[in-house]
Amino acid sequence: MVNKLSILGSTGSIGTQTLDVARKLNLQITALSAHSNIELLEQQIREFKPSVAAVFDEVKADALKLNIKDTDTKVYSGMDGLLYCATLDDCDLVVNSVVGMVGLKPTLASINAKKNIAFANKETLVAGGKLVMDAAKRNGVTLFPVDSEHSAIFQCMQACPPDKALKKIILTASGGPFFGKTVDELKDVTVAQALNHPNWSMGAKITIDSASMMNKGLEIIEAAWLFDMSPDDIDVVVHRESIIHSMIEFTDNSVLAQLGLPDMRIPIQYAITYPNRFESPVESLDFSKISSMTFFKPDYETFKCLNACKKAFKRGGVIPAVANGANEVANKLFRDGKISFLDIGEIVSMAVDNFEFKESKTLDDVLLADKSAREYVYNLVK
Ligand code: NDP
Ligand code: MG
Repeated sequence: MVNKLSILGSTGSIGTQTLDVARKLNLQITALSAHSNIELLEQQIREFKPSVAAVFDEVKADALKLNIKDTDTKVYSGMDGLLYCATLDDCDLVVNSVVGMVGLKPTLASINAKKNIAFANKETLVAGGKLVMDAAKRNGVTLFPVDSEHSAIFQCMQACPPDKALKKIILTASGGPFFGKTVDELKDVTVAQALNHPNWSMGAKITIDSASMMNKGLEIIEAAWLFDMSPDDIDVVVHRESIIHSMIEFTDNSVLAQLGLPDMRIPIQYAITYPNRFESPVESLDFSKISSMTFFKPDYETFKCLNACKKAFKRGGVIPAVANGANEVANKLFRDGKISFLDIGEIVSMAVDNFEFKESKTLDDVLLADKSAREYVYNLVK
């Protein structure tokens, strides 16, 4: 059983919920890391007493060093600090819960150090899926999915025979705050409206991705890599209540689903304790309180990111990295009030359509594609 965790992105939504789970299970935390929120990181260090902490922002790292000089925790900074936490000898499992492409190098480093990963950082798998999965296979490393849909599939898979019995994955999507809205109604939506997710409380970037349905597009690619499936065999169904977290269908058309209240601490805990299960802080599902469960087809015309991601995966090579890079910038520009909500889908679709195909054989191939996609979006918006 896993006992010592190194957490990349411990101050975020997944990071703090991972610490909730660790508290409950009495796990030891040997490394914590953040981008710049040193106030929360200091509280976490004082509570969990890790041997190492990393802060990406160098100035903030220096400030933290001073603030915690009475403790035994050593502070590192920049990408080197993150990589140090990703490969720490003194840990049984790395929890990768940083947001964005910045997680790619640490993911590869953890895998090369033969560390299993509780994996939330989907952007990494979208941009560098082949590199990551090949490295994991070579090193005998497992990525335990934290994303609720992928955890659900993984949980259902425990009942899947090893032959070709799996026919289809059915990803559920809440539909976000703008389900049922027309293009006209979405023209002037505000950041605050987009951040108002009906079911889940998450970090800002993924909440906007949920509103644009880019999140589901990223998840199609994430599932394709994690479960070695073609996107043609991955369906999306809008399920407003977020009680069914995803399903798998076998060749005999029998369907298995995983259900629970929408609380990330269940998938986080399962990624840490697999194959065991323990009590969790999440309430039990009271079926008498769920009056109905509803299902709808996604609106592919209005929410363009879904098809853009499918197309990106089909085009292959570096194109998924391009889609992800373009979205990371578009998402931020929308949050900063620089572009409209509908621009996100337009920008991601244009990037996917216009970029020239290139193989994605090395880390540099992926990093270059990501950089070019970001520049492309900045130039478009200028
Ligand atoms: P948050 O924005 O809440 O947290 C991100 C975390 O990553 C913070 O700790 C942040 O530090 C840290 N971070 C960001 N950039 C860097 C960097 N360069 N170096 C080191 N640390 C960095 O995001 P979420 O927790 O919501 O999401 C994390 C990942 O999990 C994303 O990939 C998301 O798609 C995925 N996910 C999230 C779910 C959720 O419920 N939140 C559900 C399923 C998947 P700081 O606080 O200092 O900025
Ligand atoms: Mg998800």
